[in-house]
Amino acid sequence: MTDIRKLLDELGIKESNPGACAGEWISVAGGRELVSINPADGTPIAKVVQADEAAYEQVVTTAQTAFSSWRMMPGPQRGLIVRELGDALRTNKEHLGRLVSLEMGKILSEGLGEVQEMIDMCDLAVGMSRQLSGLTMHSERSRHRMYEQWHPLGIVGIITAFNFPVAVWAWNAAVAAACGDTMIWKPSSSTPLTAIAVQNIVNPIMKRHGLEGIFNLTIGSGSLVGERMINDRRVPLVSFTGSCDMGRHVSEAVARRFGRSILELGGNNGVIVTDDADQDLALRAILFAAVGTAGQRCTSLRRLFLQKGAAPAMTQRLVSAYGSIPIGDPLDPGTLMGPMVNEAAVQSYLSAIDTIREQGGEILYGGRRLDRPGYYVEPTLVRAHAGMEITRDETFAPILYIFEFDELEQAIALHNSVDQGLSSAIFTSNLYTAERFLSHEGSDCGIANVNIGTSGAEIGGAFGGEKDTGGGREAGSDAWKAYMRRQTCTINWGRELPLAQGVTFDVEG
Ligand code: NAD
Repeated sequence: MTDIRKLLDELGIKESNPGACAGEWISVAGGRELVSINPADGTPIAKVVQADEAAYEQVVTTAQTAFSSWRMMPGPQRGLIVRELGDALRTNKEHLGRLVSLEMGKILSEGLGEVQEMIDMCDLAVGMSRQLSGLTMHSERSRHRMYEQWHPLGIVGIITAFNFPVAVWAWNAAVAAACGDTMIWKPSSSTPLTAIAVQNIVNPIMKRHGLEGIFNLTIGSGSLVGERMINDRRVPLVSFTGSCDMGRHVSEAVARRFGRSILELGGNNGVIVTDDADQDLALRAILFAAVGTAGQRCTSLRRLFLQKGAAPAMTQRLVSAYGSIPIGDPLDPGTLMGPMVNEAAVQSYLSAIDTIREQGGEILYGGRRLDRPGYYVEPTLVRAHAGMEITRDETFAPILYIFEFDELEQAIALHNSVDQGLSSAIFTSNLYTAERFLSHEGSDCGIANVNIGTSGAEIGGAFGGEKDTGGGREAGSDAWKAYMRRQTCTINWGRELPLAQGVTFDVEG
């Protein structure tokens, strides 16, 4: 049994907490209260007093001031600060992981994994801080040197979704800090306490170094804090993680003021299983991808394409496995599937089940809410057909559509026919089939795997998706470039002034 009060104490969370921090916590007199609810039983955990306009202004001003000195600190020195953050997360991993499970509802192993991802991200960003390198080109002009360099950008607005309440902040924050940016985080209103806990971990480190105002927080509604941020010219980059609809709105607002956005939006991820695949391996991967996090990952498996020879046995095995998944309190060690995040998520699941039936889907397993306190539903398997419009949408719930196919081309075409393009995978033992899936005429997603499921990406590669998933890339590889501004410099160290492209402009001076 987790002693909730003790856990909150360990992370500095009180019964009522200020929701804005710019170096120090800002108290908002008469601010609107937000209650964080435990999805496992529907009871309140603690309250947050949300940021208002004045608090938002204070945070932006602080972040601006902090940027002017932070950007002048050498990258490798900034990296050392990020390293301290990683160390503090190591120390707090158990508590923070538990709080993630408590507030969001993912099982403890995944809650701890999320904090591990933050730690890994810090390690990666420490290395990046020494590698913010540009190219040197040969100039076409004699005695000229040409190169690109990368400068810090300014304030990064980080708007995050509920389902990865702390890891997505770290993907952005660790890299942005290494790049010399300051930042303002607006977490989901469903998971404010995890954000407060992270800020409580950050604050003593920054205070010790006299570096307050680099990592800032504003908890508030999308209509107030979110809107202010996306329309604020002082925030040159908004990194947004959330649904496609909201992402479209954010993208338009930021583009209107010529700001930049990184968009990490919804997915509708598919797995293809061919007859020659290792069916045991495929089964295990499908179960984790479709049922893990109660189907509430952007990379959750939503569409399964089974080749006709393997389909009957695999479908049967899935139905049987779905019946044996332990559902319950996410903090119980035996649980593999926790609750949905809130009542609205349950209602969205139930409404999808109605639509599935109307559109001719056959429910093979599940389809019901569990009769117990909290927000529990059954993981659901549906025999689907290509004409079902609902299979084109991302329902953020544990619902898996099963399609059957004859030829690989048919499966790839159906797989690519949706608007989203985040994660994809194929299970096959055939080299040609695997390479075909990874080729230019294969998967159209940002992530394409072979003999691995759609979820659980490592941070070393750039993460993100195509089409309506938004095109953003975060975490590893060269994703850091989005957090900096590029400058091309040409230096003439000769006594002549040759012009590029052979242009002459001789004038007597
Ligand atoms: P959501 O779109 O409802 O909310 C996301 C964030 O937007 C929240 O912080 C919310 O408060 C904020 N917001 C609301 N109104 C706003 C406004 N007017 N201006 C600015 N911000 C506003 O998404 P959610 O339900 O929290 O998360 C689930 C969605 O996120 C799913 O679609 C999932 O696929 C997606 N997601 C994507 C990734 C990825 O990396 N591609 C990762 C996690 C989640």
